[in-house]
Amino acid sequence: MNTTSLPETKEHHSLVDSLDRYQLVTHTDGEGLITYANQNYLTVSGWTPKRIIGKSIWQMFSDAPASQQTVNTIWDRLLSGKSWSGKVEKMTRDGEPFFVNMLAVPTLSDDGELQSVFFLELDITEDIRLQEKLGEIAFIDVETGLMSRHKLEQVVNESIKLGQHFSFVYLTIDHYFTMKELQSTESETQLIQEFTNRLKRYFQDMPIARIDTNSFVVLTAFGDWYIQGFYDFLKQQPIYLSHNAQTLSISGGIVRFPEDQKTYTQLYKVALTAADEVISQGGGRIASLSAESHKILNRRLEIDQKMLTALDRNSLHVAYQPQFDIASDGINCYEALVRWEDEDLGIISPDELIPIAEENGLIEEIGAYVAEEAMTFATKWHRAGTEMTVSINSSVRESLNPQWKDRLISILNETGCPANKVYIEFTEKFALKAEEEQSVISQMSELQNLGMQFTLDDFGSGYASLRYLQHLPISSIKLDRLFIENLLSNPKTQKLVEGMIRFSKSMGLYTIAEGVSSEQQFDMLKNMGIDAVQGHYIGIPLPAEQIKIS
Ligand code: C2E
Ligand code: MG
Ligand code: MG
Repeated sequence: MNTTSLPETKEHHSLVDSLDRYQLVTHTDGEGLITYANQNYLTVSGWTPKRIIGKSIWQMFSDAPASQQTVNTIWDRLLSGKSWSGKVEKMTRDGEPFFVNMLAVPTLSDDGELQSVFFLELDITEDIRLQEKLGEIAFIDVETGLMSRHKLEQVVNESIKLGQHFSFVYLTIDHYFTMKELQSTESETQLIQEFTNRLKRYFQDMPIARIDTNSFVVLTAFGDWYIQGFYDFLKQQPIYLSHNAQTLSISGGIVRFPEDQKTYTQLYKVALTAADEVISQGGGRIASLSAESHKILNRRLEIDQKMLTALDRNSLHVAYQPQFDIASDGINCYEALVRWEDEDLGIISPDELIPIAEENGLIEEIGAYVAEEAMTFATKWHRAGTEMTVSINSSVRESLNPQWKDRLISILNETGCPANKVYIEFTEKFALKAEEEQSVISQMSELQNLGMQFTLDDFGSGYASLRYLQHLPISSIKLDRLFIENLLSNPKTQKLVEGMIRFSKSMGLYTIAEGVSSEQQFDMLKNMGIDAVQGHYIGIPLPAEQIKIS
């Protein structure tokens, strides 16, 4: 009898039944692709049986680097034939976190190759939430006894109110999620507690908070030299784990109140950015933000704050840039580009504005505003009896909203714009996301059925994946302006552009070149068989009032 597996007895069946009833069960193959998930897992994670099969376990976690690192650590251990157990945060299909106690058991082939993995998980989300709630109420981090981030906010706001001068110091333990020594929950707890002791001993009587697993904030009236001294202190007082001294590396960011920033949120953001800057340079330092980064960040913060009022006060505008169609020898489309000029901030370019709007969520309002303007513009051309179209840029975040399509349709109705007068431009980043999300593809298809068309913008600038050309309803592509910039000077670029035009046309796509700024570029592209060009050579973006409709 095989002694490694349970005999097929009544007990065996009832064990399997109870596991299935109380635990979340998944299996993967040796690549980490899911081959089975039980009903409990589907219920908690929100996946459907059809969709989950073939997804990788990496997709069951948040795509934050720390989370992905955790899966890598687990997977490395499974590859070496060892099982893994511990507490992890996973992610539902809709992006909601949930917590499980996980046991992962690998099965290896005779020659030691990972063949499959059996995951048993117990949903502990409620316990964690309860712990968090208690922590919130008590304002204390349960594991360390330090202040929680809620308490920190209160303390910082009180100090601000009292006009006290202080440094806000964000500290994080480097490489925490990849430390070999932290394979068990006990060693993690021990490390964090020992680290907390060092913090308390060094920053005596100063407020200290734990922000997340491996990050802390200290408020201190002392200057940079004192704060940076904590690094040497850690070296002199090493932490012992299983009798081995750990040389911990930490990264930190310092921001001063009131000199650098004036509110809790800004202090926090800037300190985090300063620490990130240190981490990106290899970590192991505590530093203030460089003057240059400070300037950039302050401008970002200001743009972020003013964006809502800009929308309210209608200080956003739309400029229209013409696109020249070679076959009909005339302008056949105008691309709508958002414009914002502020009294204090000056001109805020879309390249600055759009990423911030994507982060704070205002991209949806901005998108709707630009669409309204552009469709009103297109309606005027239509009423003048022309075939003119408009092209509107769209961000991933807009399309992820299940109401994206309905919003566009209602703007079409409000403005009286025929759907076939509208192109939606999106980038390769958008395409990659859209491909993953069935709801985006189906919304795109519905819009396409109404007559709207889609253009892949900045083609060739992002990911070298052409897969999405098969799945997404794209009717034209716009070659990125970097290729056009180098067209005359680089023979390799010429070959590349020629190839891309041929490829695109062979796919039946209307091919546009953007950023065309000279006659030579224009002539060369025309000889290569381009369908349309856009750029300063044809015309710069102008406000609607300056464009004659004829
Ligand atoms: P894009 O869609 O690739 O737009 C083309 C950009 O190239 C525009 O910059 C345009 O002014 C610029 N351009 C046009 N011709 C030339 C030329 O001959 N030479 C050079 N050097 N540049 C030229 P802009 O307006 O700054 O927009 C930058 C990007 O911001 C756009 O790139 C687009 O991705 C995004 N964007 C603009 N408006 C919106 C919007 O309303 N919504 C969204 N989601 N994104 C927008
Ligand atoms: Mg565009
Ligand atoms: Mg472009």
